[in-house]
Amino acid sequence: MARRKLIAGNWKMNMLQDDGVALARDLAERLDLADQPGFDMLICPPATLLRSIGQAMSGSGLLLGGQDCHADKSGAYTGDISAEMLRDLGVSYVIVGHSERRQFHGESDAMVNAKAKAAWRAGLTAVLCIGETLAERDAGKALDVLQRQIESSVPDGGTAQNLVLAYEPVWAIGTGRTPSVDDVAAAHRHIRTVLAKRSGEAGAIRLLYGGSVKPDNAGVLLKMDNVDGALVGGASLKAGDFWAIGAASV
Ligand code: PEP
Repeated sequence: MARRKLIAGNWKMNMLQDDGVALARDLAERLDLADQPGFDMLICPPATLLRSIGQAMSGSGLLLGGQDCHADKSGAYTGDISAEMLRDLGVSYVIVGHSERRQFHGESDAMVNAKAKAAWRAGLTAVLCIGETLAERDAGKALDVLQRQIESSVPDGGTAQNLVLAYEPVWAIGTGRTPSVDDVAAAHRHIRTVLAKRSGEAGAIRLLYGGSVKPDNAGVLLKMDNVDGALVGGASLKAGDFWAIGAASV
């Protein structure tokens, strides 16, 4: 099954208006100039930039996503943003269950599951993150952890349109360390097998790898059979690096 690569950038809590809009414009121009780049490109800036970036990149092929959403539509949740609010800004994707949300905001698999359903309720594609810690990998439990996270965090009803799964070993995020090619291949194979028990479209759902993806390792990491793109943190903040990762993925 042909799955088009998706190169997704998670800007995290970085960028103010001018630099953020300039970065988005740079990427939108590269996309428009490229003749059939062969991959989709998604940026997930902080919520404060979604409106201005949405306007600046309007009409380009660049995709826009949020970094998180609340499970409810509205209510007394100070500081939170609903999936409907993202949709209202013209956003079409949202990251849920990033390990930094799980770690610093105590998000459980059940909460991530509810957030993915909220994304679907609002018509957004959920980029749902899973991944083992270093202790879990060292204990030989990486594949079990992935299975548990899929069974608990991924709602039934995932399709190629509404779901992207990102495998992000927690110990590889922002550390410069990456798993071996064999470990990534084994994890992605396992994820697709487990996903097949939950979705009839498992073969069409895109599985991204995330964790210290850079232009110089992207070719090796992203050209494997079950790797359908990348979720990129640090290297998504420089247009040249992020673009080079996309170019190396196809
Ligand atoms: C991430 O935050 O999802 C990530 C993969 O970060 P980095 O690319 O910086 O490791």
